Amino acid sequence: MTDSTAPTFVGNLTPRKRFWATNRGTLIGCAILIVVAIIIPFTASASMMNVAVFAMIFALPAIGLSLLMGLAGQVSLGQAAFFGIGAYTHAILLTKYDVPGPIAATIGVLAAMLVALLVGLPLMRLRGHYLALATLGLGFIVMITAREWDFTGRTTGIYGIARPEVFGIPITNNGLFFWFVTPFVVLGIILALNLTHSRAGRALSAVNDSEVAAESLGVSTYALRLKVLVLSAGFAGLGGVFYAYQVAIVSPQIAGFQVSVEFLLMVVIGGLGSVWGALAGAFLIEFLGEGMSELIPALIPGATGEVQLLGYGIVLVLVILLLPGGLVQATTALWRWVKSKVPGKAAVGMTEVDDAAVVALPRISAPLAPGEPILQVSGLTMRYGGVVALDAVNLTVPAGTILGLIGPNGAGKTTCFNIISGTLAPTSGTVTFLGRTISGRKPHVAASHGLTRTFQNLQIFSSTDVVGNVYMGRYRQGRAGILRGMLGLQAHEQRSNRGVAHDILQSMNLTDVAHEEAGSLPFGRQRMMEVCRALAAEPALLLLDEPMAGLSGAERDVLAELLRRLRDAGLTILLVEHDVAQVMSLADHVAVLDDGVLIAHGEPEVVRNDPAVIAAYLGTDVDEVETELTDLEGHV
Ligand code: ATP
Repeated sequence: MTDSTAPTFVGNLTPRKRFWATNRGTLIGCAILIVVAIIIPFTASASMMNVAVFAMIFALPAIGLSLLMGLAGQVSLGQAAFFGIGAYTHAILLTKYDVPGPIAATIGVLAAMLVALLVGLPLMRLRGHYLALATLGLGFIVMITAREWDFTGRTTGIYGIARPEVFGIPITNNGLFFWFVTPFVVLGIILALNLTHSRAGRALSAVNDSEVAAESLGVSTYALRLKVLVLSAGFAGLGGVFYAYQVAIVSPQIAGFQVSVEFLLMVVIGGLGSVWGALAGAFLIEFLGEGMSELIPALIPGATGEVQLLGYGIVLVLVILLLPGGLVQATTALWRWVKSKVPGKAAVGMTEVDDAAVVALPRISAPLAPGEPILQVSGLTMRYGGVVALDAVNLTVPAGTILGLIGPNGAGKTTCFNIISGTLAPTSGTVTFLGRTISGRKPHVAASHGLTRTFQNLQIFSSTDVVGNVYMGRYRQGRAGILRGMLGLQAHEQRSNRGVAHDILQSMNLTDVAHEEAGSLPFGRQRMMEVCRALAAEPALLLLDEPMAGLSGAERDVLAELLRRLRDAGLTILLVEHDVAQVMSLADHVAVLDDGVLIAHGEPEVVRNDPAVIAAYLGTDVDEVETELTDLEGHV
């Protein structure tokens, strides 16, 4: 469906150009890092080299934490716990059991990941401050265990860790050790960047933008967050392994709160969620600490350690105040400024959806013959304390039809809609979709079976562009998990899904804004983009929550026409809408709720003339009823 007028996207390029276009940033960044890392040991002083080694080691837990906080949106104050577990496991295996270095290191990393999995199973159900507190507690548990247990050497710790040999060459100095650590950091950066751009990474970003929208597209937030926690702990564990080699003695403090806070600062100063930012943050914090310890005594003769710490703290506070988005924000702002000085083509953006908006229909899924029941709602009841929002509602939606759900304010439409889509669990009753009970399950369960929704208050993924939003709609069609994403083994899947996203945008005449920031579009086009995103999931049932709200008259007509054509092509649609006239002209069946009770359900013509509907919906004022009926006549 893609034609020559469509903008170029990577799917149109040759494999080599495509690889370069996709990985340009990573390749250039890693090449610069490698060159700098080769040069540093030749130029740095002994003390600077020592600081550089620690910065490189700490970059690993910082990258892991940045993924956890920036991608998964989870604040952790316990990254040092996993760092400590990696270091202790490695040190114990090396010194007490003479396990070869690579095996001890691998077990150290796996131990950190295993602990993360065990604590993450319950912890990942917590959010915000609760999770931060829980991870803080974990850090204390690891530190106190290490301090009180004979096996971990109590306060003395584990000592006598010898640095490794590489191809028979002993790593005797900091310069060599720096080179030894660098390839692992480069590899970690590549894996982390791959993850950021992968199906899983995009899903996590989408969760951060709008959890409810991401779940409605089939994203299981709990599972993804748990996996990122485990991964993040793996990075910390690897950092711990190198730390044990570097200091030759592992003591309880390394799992302490102060170390966790240091990792946190690296991430915040670098810029949340940025892999390069975490690396830069690690170097900045380490060199800042070193710089302060030299600068403060020079400025204040006789200054003690506390004064140095104070100076360090003041500089950090200033950096955070002046650069709340971290180094990444500063770099991005600078880049934007440079770009603004270069004349470019003006952004295109229609004020509203145009008449020719629906050029061609995207593919839709019609798993049942027309008329067969695709959705059944039985005895659905919802109580909020004393308020009965829904009272034993029964509804059946036949496949290939549009059902309009209407009712006056407070009738229970949103509650019913949210229960069907999985956002709410009912007090009693069931919702069956394609023969499976979906009530009481999370939205991603219904989504994975082909039920997708849009939102009355638009839920846009603001961290990506228009095509990125629609691409997220393809989540259900993808298979690649975190591991494949990190290894970059999903190029084909990504390409084909991105191609479909472009096709859908083209079919809705939105190609011109494909690469615009989603949040910058006019409202009507954002609404159409959300519909595109839902259609990209190839749903069997599309739930639309007040899709006409906020649209102009012309835009409403365009959307109504699109819905008719989708229905004619076999899609089933459930529409909650305040615009009664549009519903009456569009829907095959109309259900009317009043005070949580289903008072009418049938063809629009019948429902419109139902006295109970007129009384409940339009009120008992005769003049009002007549005006509204005349209005309806004009539309139908
Ligand atoms: P509107 O058209 O105004 O959006 P609606 O038909 O969608 O209304 P609901 O929002 O489902 O109706 O509300 C049905 C009833 O349930 C109302 O009386 C409302 O006040 C009540 N209600 C809805 N949500 C809650 C809640 N979270 N807690 C308590 N009561 C609620």
